[in-house]
Amino acid sequence: MTSTNEQRVLDMVPKGLLIGGQWRESSDGKSLDVIDPATGTVLTSIADASESDGLDAIAAAHEAQAEWAATAPRYRAELLRSAFERVNELADDFAFLMSLEMGKPVAEARGEVSYGNEFIRWFSEEAPRVTGRYGTAPDGKNRILVLKRPVGPSLFITPWNFPLAMATRKIGPAIATGCTMILKPAAQTPLTSLLLASVLQDLGLPPGVLNVIPTSRAGAVTGPIIKDGRLRKLSFTGSTAVGQRLIRDSADRVLRTSMELGGNAPLIVFDDANIDKAVEGALLAKLRNMGEACTAANRFIVHESVAEEFSRRVASRMSKLKMARGTVPDANIGPLIDEPSRQAVHRLVEDAVAEGAKIMTGGQLPEGGGYFYPPTVLTNVSPDSDILHEEIFGPVAPVVTFTSEEEAIGLANATEYGLVAYAFTEDLNRGLRLAEKLEVGMLGLNTGLVSNPAAPFGGIKSSGLGREGGFEGIDEYLETVYVGIADPLA
Ligand code: NAP
Repeated sequence: MTSTNEQRVLDMVPKGLLIGGQWRESSDGKSLDVIDPATGTVLTSIADASESDGLDAIAAAHEAQAEWAATAPRYRAELLRSAFERVNELADDFAFLMSLEMGKPVAEARGEVSYGNEFIRWFSEEAPRVTGRYGTAPDGKNRILVLKRPVGPSLFITPWNFPLAMATRKIGPAIATGCTMILKPAAQTPLTSLLLASVLQDLGLPPGVLNVIPTSRAGAVTGPIIKDGRLRKLSFTGSTAVGQRLIRDSADRVLRTSMELGGNAPLIVFDDANIDKAVEGALLAKLRNMGEACTAANRFIVHESVAEEFSRRVASRMSKLKMARGTVPDANIGPLIDEPSRQAVHRLVEDAVAEGAKIMTGGQLPEGGGYFYPPTVLTNVSPDSDILHEEIFGPVAPVVTFTSEEEAIGLANATEYGLVAYAFTEDLNRGLRLAEKLEVGMLGLNTGLVSNPAAPFGGIKSSGLGREGGFEGIDEYLETVYVGIADPLA
């Protein structure tokens, strides 16, 4: 039965599409069910955007673009700042809603609200700081003027694992720079985006600046928008396979793209590590979001002299965690997003065990409803096991051992992905060597968490293109224009 608080929070969410400042039904009258992953039951239904709704959204974004770009940076900054304050006021409701549709424990969802909202604050501070430059050419004659302007209407496609933060990382800089946008949230977690859009709209975001089109027909709805000459940018967060396809689709129009894709993060524990810190870091890097994070530690590469102690302590801590619906007050581990995801995680565990891995904790599908999977530690994992080569996206920690730094770096780099790595060592020079040699966009040194709105988030290799957050994040929404000027003194 739906609790009073649950119903109240669900009632706060507009159930329509937001296009040109109006909330409306889908043009073909279809609706989309949002499922509670803890029970498999329907939470609520919302409008399911059609292809023609998508085209209406790009028309609305295009129509609003020129006037929006002409607004004062200070005005856009203040709007973002008000949104930051308002999301803070509603933080408990956002967290509860996110837990309902995505499954993570409410306390963890509260952490995402703080993290996601920080992007709004960060970009409110960046909005008035976009500048160009003026200088003299090396020969002392011509002048060089460089100016920045908004890239224009942008399409955002976001995943289900961080329903608020993945949206604010894009909406924040787009508002700051004066871009209009269309947000297509994941079909499984559209409610958080709809609530955020209603907050921005209530604060006076002009019609057409942000359009939100949840849909069960992702490719059919976004494909025509990507081909439309009015769109100027695509920013995608999701799997590498879908990202590759979208890069191909964007090629015809040479669309600006930002791609935040999959990961296969190594977490390396050296023999000189502080093991207490390594265990804490491992739990954080593995269990944040039940392991359903692009930044989740996927491979535990541990020096053979500390592997036994490290694995035993991680397994002991994991075995004590409470698995429950995210809204249960002392829940530590919520359900995975759906049954296919749970089966995919279990298949990786079963394959690894068939190839000789030993289960230290977890590894069994629990009885009962919902898509739960227990925190699991595997040792003696064969180097060829799929679990070391695929993104697990679940609370499973496979441990392999090494004997030399060179071997650890080789193992860490043996993947097509290059998003993040974690390393635990008390040797600063070794830490710096790793920063230079690991093939990743981000390195957590003696920490299991790198995400920070003030830092450039992003990957190399098949993990993506571009950066979100930091000083770099705003450039993704700016075009650079150079004006060559004849010597004004001549
Ligand atoms: P996904 O299947 O790639 O979906 C991501 C988004 O793309 C969803 O909105 C999805 O819509 C949409 N989509 C799917 N097929 C599409 C198509 N043909 N055309 C246009 N849009 C399409 O990924 P996911 O399972 O939601 O998320 C998990 C993945 O995201 C993992 O690989 C994870 O590593 C990655 N991720 C990366 C970062 C990062 O910053 N690097 C952050 C978070 C997650 P539907 O919901 O309708 O399928």
